[in-house]
Amino acid sequence: MKSVGIVGGGISGLFSAYYLLEYGCEVTVIEQGSFQDGCSFGNAGMIVPSHIIPLAQPGMITKGMRWMLSYESPFYVKPRLNWGLMKWGYLFWKHSTEAHVHRSIPVLRDLSLLSRQLFQELAMRGDFDFGWQEKGLFMLFKNQETRHEMQEEAHVANRAGIEAQVLSSQEVQAMEPDVQVNVEGAVYYPGDAHIYPNQLMDGLVAYLKNKGVRFLENHSVKDFAVQGNSVKSVVTSGGTFSYDEIVLAAGAWSPELSEKLGVSLPLQGGKGYSFFTSDLTNNIRIPAIMLEARATATPMGGGLRFAGTLEVAGTDRSVNMSRVKGIHNSINQYYPDLKVPFPKEADVWRGLRPCSPDGLPYIGRAGRFSNVILATGHGMMGVSLGPATGKLVSELVTNQPTSMALPALDPLRFS
Ligand SMILES: Cc1cc2nc3c(=O)[nH]c(=O)nc-3n(C[C@H](O)[C@H](O)[C@H](O)COP(=O)(O)OP(=O)(O)OC[C@H]3O[C@@H](n4cnc5c(N)ncnc54)[C@H](O)[C@@H]3O)c2cc1C
Repeated sequence: MKSVGIVGGGISGLFSAYYLLEYGCEVTVIEQGSFQDGCSFGNAGMIVPSHIIPLAQPGMITKGMRWMLSYESPFYVKPRLNWGLMKWGYLFWKHSTEAHVHRSIPVLRDLSLLSRQLFQELAMRGDFDFGWQEKGLFMLFKNQETRHEMQEEAHVANRAGIEAQVLSSQEVQAMEPDVQVNVEGAVYYPGDAHIYPNQLMDGLVAYLKNKGVRFLENHSVKDFAVQGNSVKSVVTSGGTFSYDEIVLAAGAWSPELSEKLGVSLPLQGGKGYSFFTSDLTNNIRIPAIMLEARATATPMGGGLRFAGTLEVAGTDRSVNMSRVKGIHNSINQYYPDLKVPFPKEADVWRGLRPCSPDGLPYIGRAGRFSNVILATGHGMMGVSLGPATGKLVSELVTNQPTSMALPALDPLRFS
């Protein structure tokens, strides 16, 4: 039986543990925090096979520059003289091409569809409840420019085999009978789904503990002991531990750790915020992305969670209330009769999306080390792609044929 040490108790780490357990591995999850505070908890919970176009795409840099001009805007890059940020920015620019989008679509689609199927299996098994709902996703737009872009994306999705329907404002309103919706129209993706992320994470931890997975909380990984082509042990703030295989799933912190193994991983933390309200007289039924505002609304846990903003700011986790105000301001532009109180700073959640520069995750073996696997870089889609990531990691560890081809996700693709 192989022993596996997983660094990082976010969704990528926990789903790796879940599928490794199915292959009979002895698993330990090492987490610097408490399994309650990471990026995988307060996110929007959208499961999005619709998202087949990577963030690195033509026009994104121009849009980003425009957004940078406002304190409340949904996008910001904290200017820093930092080599990692400059390299990341260069690679993002280099991949913002039609050719890259074209190459990435089948990869993101296959990864997403695999993940959705695994979520469906998980929901059927019923080991724990995680609020699985197959209600689709609205991409709401208010102006003609966005309509035009979204109609084009809908064609691309339909051509790739992902169903997308362009709806009028009346059709959207008919599907949301309990709230007023003030939009020009929407693209509806019936194959998308949503979950309650906090419930999923708590459920996974409890399930894995019950099945014998060892959890080392408040253990920060500091270094690795290397012998030849393999990592012999993991040095943590709470002791040194040895495993046959090591999975690095440390989210936005992954580059700090991979560097210790000589693996340069272009990755930036993309900070986002969310807040939740259960104090509602009416609620939406279908999760939505409010496109011009780049903010989201997801019904979950009897309430409604709003999320948004992408601040490329390293691993800084402070809360910028101006950006939270930007998210809050957008709500009544799309849903005029929703009464949502402005959150106190203490009630605002923030998380760091692990963003690769080409918008594709890193899943694969780490360079010259025969026993290290990387599983990170999922950016805006880490929850959506969690089960597929875990499944692929477990197949790599146990030397099984992988459920899909992995070259496009190679962690060394920029080396
Ligand atoms: C506002 C917002 C909304 C989002 N909405 C969605 C959505 O709707 N759908 C979707 O699919 N995705 C969404 N995402 C993205 C998604 O949340 C992330 O992609 C995903 O949670 C990343 O998971 P992870 O396991 O890779 O990283 P994390 O959840 O960050 O986990 C990594 C863990 O590693 C630990 N760690 C780091 N360094 C060390 C160390 N040295 N030693 C030990 N432990 C360490 C960290 O403490 C952390 O717990 C959203 C993100 C944000 C911010």
